[in-house]
Amino acid sequence: MIENLSQTLRPTVAALEEVLYKPIKLLDHGFIRVIDYMGDDSAIVQAARVSYGKGTKKVSQDRGLINYLMRNSHTTPFEMCEIKLHIKLPIFVARQWVRHRTANINEYSARYSILDKEFYLPAADQISCQSLSNKQGRGEVLDQADSKKVLDILRQDAERCYENYAYMLNIDESTGKIMDESRDSVARELARMNLTLNYYTQWYWKIDLHNLMHFLRLRSHSHAQYEIRVYAEKMLEILKLWVPYTYDAFMNYLSCSFTLSRDAINVVRNRLAGASVSKEESGLSAREWDELQEIFPTL
Ligand SMILES: Cc1cc2nc3c(=O)[nH]c(=O)nc-3n(C[C@H](O)[C@H](O)[C@H](O)COP(=O)(O)OP(=O)(O)OC[C@H]3O[C@@H](n4cnc5c(N)ncnc54)[C@H](O)[C@@H]3O)c2cc1C
Repeated sequence: MIENLSQTLRPTVAALEEVLYKPIKLLDHGFIRVIDYMGDDSAIVQAARVSYGKGTKKVSQDRGLINYLMRNSHTTPFEMCEIKLHIKLPIFVARQWVRHRTANINEYSARYSILDKEFYLPAADQISCQSLSNKQGRGEVLDQADSKKVLDILRQDAERCYENYAYMLNIDESTGKIMDESRDSVARELARMNLTLNYYTQWYWKIDLHNLMHFLRLRSHSHAQYEIRVYAEKMLEILKLWVPYTYDAFMNYLSCSFTLSRDAINVVRNRLAGASVSKEESGLSAREWDELQEIFPTL
């Protein structure tokens, strides 16, 4: 039962209201909660029509307009919508996340408060060896014995560091009370520095729809690290609930699209005309060539 309901004249999205404030869980202790949002698909259309000096049209035309805006990088109408999320994430994921400078962040203060003893441990099927082909990626999953050893190391290190953190804070981990009245506790802003990067932090993150899609395009891509990708994938589900037309246009024109360079277009053109073009003749780098073959395997 929802208390304190209030009426609004602003547009709301029933599907997003359904998940408002509810934590959507991911990884072992992480979550995403939608805290607030502004605008919907019609707000984008409304803003775009202002720039064209035209009023509201039929739904099919609205959808067409959103597709047109997305296809032609007419991005500012998408900036009219905003979303605010409460996110709990491991510190090493947060460090990648903050590279996206076009959002507003307010993070849990470990200068002011004590961090919970919550750290991320990957599932066994995510403990992989270093990729040989991609210096920034994972290769095969480790065998069971090696994987168990890695998990033991990660757990023991995180626990030992937390024990020392609690010692410096002079706090008894289990009761949360002062451990030893006869000694001073170290400042929280200093004690936190020995925690491992897999400890969880939390923040409120507010971003407009245009920049959210930029984030999602990069971080839901297979090249992004698994741990940030799972957040991006959940956020795609949120996007679909919030602005379904924009979601479809985003998936079609941005997320699942592929940019062809001038040289790649020449390869495709020549191949379609029946001419054979070798890797060496193409002018493409080995990586670009492989990516092109991945997209057009039968070309
Ligand atoms: C798979 C992957 C691997 C990565 N590897 C590394 C790595 O090894 N090392 C590393 O340091 N980073 C790495 N990054 C981070 C990456 O370089 C970007 O910093 C991050 O993705 C944020 O992208 P952005 O700058 O486009 O986003 P935002 O900061 O949200 O910016 C959005 C857009 O605003 C504009 N903009 C924002 N700030 C400026 C500015 N100061 N000047 C001009 N234009 C601006 C740009 O057009 C930008 O694209 C990686 C990212 C990914 C997805």
